[in-house]
Amino acid sequence: MKKEMISQDNCIFCKIIAGKIPSHTIYEDEQFKVILDVGPATRGHALIIPKNHFTNLYELPEKMAADAMKLAKKLMIKMTEKLHCDGFNVIQNNGEVAGQTVFHFHMHLIPRYKEDGEILKYIAGEPGAEELERIRKTITE
Ligand code: 5GP
Ligand code: ZN
Repeated sequence: MKKEMISQDNCIFCKIIAGKIPSHTIYEDEQFKVILDVGPATRGHALIIPKNHFTNLYELPEKMAADAMKLAKKLMIKMTEKLHCDGFNVIQNNGEVAGQTVFHFHMHLIPRYKEDGEILKYIAGEPGAEELERIRKTITE
């Protein structure tokens, strides 16, 4: 018996999974489809997308999160061999404030090349030991 798909009508990634929107697939299995990003940060930028709709990592089942990370490792190795990149970013955004624009969980696989520019950067804060300790307590107590 075929399992029921979890899908959302107005979701662009659900439409890609259903084959209603074309994509360039580099890997596919029962759980995931991996496609090239239409607006790539670098050559080979790809997205690991679960075939079922989950909004973000908060909603993704734990087993699927583990499988997605295993797949990221496998593809990172293959893509590094094939594309001859010099490093790799694996990125995953949750919520608008965190930069998420498509609200169907996905992981970015971004091959990095010497000379590709500092495309992913944050400004380092200077919280000091007291503030770090307050944060540690907030999280752990
Ligand atoms: P987010 O900002 O949500 O982490 O990433 C969404 C990503 O999806 C962006 O990098 C964007 O370029 C990509 N994207 C959005 N629409 C499409 C599409 O229709 N096809 C493909 N292949 N990628 C898409
Ligand atoms: Zn979806």
